[in-house]
Amino acid sequence: MCNKTILGILNMQTITINSPFDMHLHLRDNDMLELVAPLSSETFAGAIIMPNLVPPVDTKEAVIAYKNRILNATKNDQFNPLMTLFFKPYSKDFLTSIKDNISAIKLYPAGITTNSEGGVESIDTIALAPTLNAMAELNIPLCVHGETNGFVMDREKEFMNVYEALASAFPKLKIIMEHITTKDAVDMLAKYDNLYATITLHHLLITLDDVAGGMLQPHLFCKPIAKRYEDRDALLKVALEGNEKVMFGSDSAPHPQHAKENCGCAAGVFTSPIAIQVLVELFENNNKLENLQKFLSDNACKIYNMKASSKTITLEKTNFKVPSIYENDTQKVVPMYAGETLNWSIKC
Ligand SMILES: [Zn+2]
Repeated sequence: MCNKTILGILNMQTITINSPFDMHLHLRDNDMLELVAPLSSETFAGAIIMPNLVPPVDTKEAVIAYKNRILNATKNDQFNPLMTLFFKPYSKDFLTSIKDNISAIKLYPAGITTNSEGGVESIDTIALAPTLNAMAELNIPLCVHGETNGFVMDREKEFMNVYEALASAFPKLKIIMEHITTKDAVDMLAKYDNLYATITLHHLLITLDDVAGGMLQPHLFCKPIAKRYEDRDALLKVALEGNEKVMFGSDSAPHPQHAKENCGCAAGVFTSPIAIQVLVELFENNNKLENLQKFLSDNACKIYNMKASSKTITLEKTNFKVPSIYENDTQKVVPMYAGETLNWSIKC
């Protein structure tokens, strides 16, 4: 932790975070990319970019082209898009050739979330071994959307035996359990040295009650769905203590307003523009501000074996009224906490 951060904690009116990373981010493409990318790049030093476009990002050319579109959209911001490849069986030669262009490979079970139709039908450790062994040898982490197609509240819990099978069959492969939502997943982290996890902002804050306990809240509907209080509390504990196996990954997933406020609501919570401000408030309220640097950057650097950037972001304790909508000529997106007032704002 740098001196600035320590000073920030002492006077409690400003706090500086070094090189904040969002280790799970959806930036979409085209006009939506143009709208949302700057809302991450103005605050974050970098982000793991999810590859579930249509068609999925599964070639070297697609990775390079998408990265260039992101860099164009983020203009002059100091922002490093950490690219991922959509998981398929790949040869070691191909992975060797693309290794320097990607930070991880993302595995989706087929059809489990937005644009995952081309994902893996069954996670068979023998059939997938050539690809996963090559990834382990080349130090390419495997990011996993860990849900079965069972009952919606049990999908992550039911996936735990897949994580166990992967973690024990490939002990040298770094496996990131993406956007974990359950106590079962938190408990699993401790069982295998090669398992890590990202945790979103919204899963640290809400339960299923907030989504569907009263009037249905489409802007809080996401996959994996928010779970029970004991699950949220287990996530909070490891995040707040700065546990080295977890890192922040927003899973910020913008959908057009009409796709959310609709009969047939798309899954995803849009948190990019408010994530750091709300995390500061959450860690402050729990008297754990000293661990925020770990959750937002240090742990990610260790897990992904990467250097922090020189970018710092300073927040001050003044009100920030969250816009009710972010929009450009063709897109409108509603953020979490739309129209509400937060305690911390980004210092210009
Ligand atoms: Zn995601």
